[in-house]
Amino acid sequence: MTEVKSLPVTTKESEAKQQFPCLLCGQAAVTTGLYFPSPTSPIAPPEGKVRVILYGLCDDCFGQYKKLLPTIETLIEQQMMATLKQMRQTSMSS
Ligand SMILES: [Zn+2]
Repeated sequence: MTEVKSLPVTTKESEAKQQFPCLLCGQAAVTTGLYFPSPTSPIAPPEGKVRVILYGLCDDCFGQYKKLLPTIETLIEQQMMATLKQMRQTSMSS
């Protein structure tokens, strides 16, 4: 048995982690967006399931939201595929 002592987590740090950075530039996000991959998307959910991806946008990027939407979707798909690939590799090696 290992004795569990209080974890060294400060409130400020855990609060900061909950806040999304801007997906495009990394600034503090002011808006949270939702992305629903379409059936033709490479990260489309399995049939009958719904996949929702949350992302943050800062004020500047949100101002150009419509123009940036294709970029946003591509970025999300790339990140998601990288995450899925990593998860597969991790489960295979263990
Ligand atoms: Zn931004």
